[in-house]
Amino acid sequence: MADSTGKRALITGVTGQDGSFLAEQLLAKGYEVYGLIRRLSTPNTRNISHLLDRIHLVDGDLLDQASLQTAVQAVEPDEVYNLAAQSFVGVSFTQPVVTAEVTAVGALRLLEAVRTGAEDAHFFQASSSEMFGKVQESPQNEDTPFYPRSPYGVAKVYAYWACVNYRESYGMYASNGVLFNHESERRGHEFVTRKITDGVARIKLGLAKKIALGTLETRRDWGYAPEYTDLMWRILNAPTPGDYVGATGETHSVEEFVRLAFERVGITDWKSCVELDPRFARPADVDHLCGDARRANEKLGWTAKTRLPELVRIMVDRDLELLGTSPRTHSN
Ligand code: NDP
Ligand code: GDP
Repeated sequence: MADSTGKRALITGVTGQDGSFLAEQLLAKGYEVYGLIRRLSTPNTRNISHLLDRIHLVDGDLLDQASLQTAVQAVEPDEVYNLAAQSFVGVSFTQPVVTAEVTAVGALRLLEAVRTGAEDAHFFQASSSEMFGKVQESPQNEDTPFYPRSPYGVAKVYAYWACVNYRESYGMYASNGVLFNHESERRGHEFVTRKITDGVARIKLGLAKKIALGTLETRRDWGYAPEYTDLMWRILNAPTPGDYVGATGETHSVEEFVRLAFERVGITDWKSCVELDPRFARPADVDHLCGDARRANEKLGWTAKTRLPELVRIMVDRDLELLGTSPRTHSN
């Protein structure tokens, strides 16, 4: 049984990968957890279905200022985690304006709602390694200049600085986690890791023959999502606000990820199962990301523990299980 902290947390993006892990972790710490949820034509609570009797859902949308103010005033949060975003880089090229509205201005709207409705609340902004884009140095740390390469990256830079600006202008406790890619069995199927592990599981089960990818060459610093949501909590519970990189410090190519995933199911001739398809390539890509999380380690005692082979194993095994036991055999 969790100790009660008496604290209330408001999470935007609670239906997403990170929101669902964070909600679990805060419940275990004894928080009262509120999740902002937007209206969709088809409800999308799969990631939090096991939590629905323990968290409170509050209507709201990052596009709608009044709904955010109402939510903040109703919840009176001690901590606010802004995890909501149009979070997929690929779509940010085809829907740049909505990406800016949600991912950039949405963060500003929430900051404004917190400033006017709960100014003592601790505010967390989910910033991204995509802000480093065309990297100016390697590895990237909190002092590395930004050079975003997508509408998503540009929007995240805006939100990052809005968070810093509210801290400096109004003395708010507002912090950024500059998070490198983190994945899990709850990752959306459009992201390359989940696309690969789902594809490998389908091929293994005879449900598909190939995986089509945009490139095998780009490199990412991939970690395991629950460790990054733990970092978010550590950031908001530090004595003073600040900005922290969250990363494993290792970089791997998409090709390495593919190879490890096929190896997990005993397929060594993976090249015959993968094809390159320009539809999945980007107008501009981020070639190489590798983070330096020493500040988070030194000040918050945080390190990423799960390394790539273990991450791949978790994701492939879960996708095999999901496909083996569920009738969902369509492509995502
Ligand atoms: P997901 O895409 O899984 O979740 C995004 C969440 O945002 C969903 O709950 C979605 O709700 C919600 N959302 C989208 N638009 C709106 C809106 N207009 N109003 C309210 N809610 C909205 O992302 P992750 O969990 O992977 O990531 C969490 C955050 O961390 C994001 O901000 C992401 O950009 C950032 N980040 C993630 C990284 C990663 O590797 N995962 C790396 C760096 C940063 P719905 O279910 O209704 O669509
Ligand atoms: P991102 O780092 O937030 O863009 O996360 P993604 O998982 O979407 O992409 C990681 C890298 O994989 C990028 O360099 C993509 O260009 C690359 N990639 C290669 N093929 C694909 C694909 O089919 N889908 C996606 N999403 N990414 C791909």
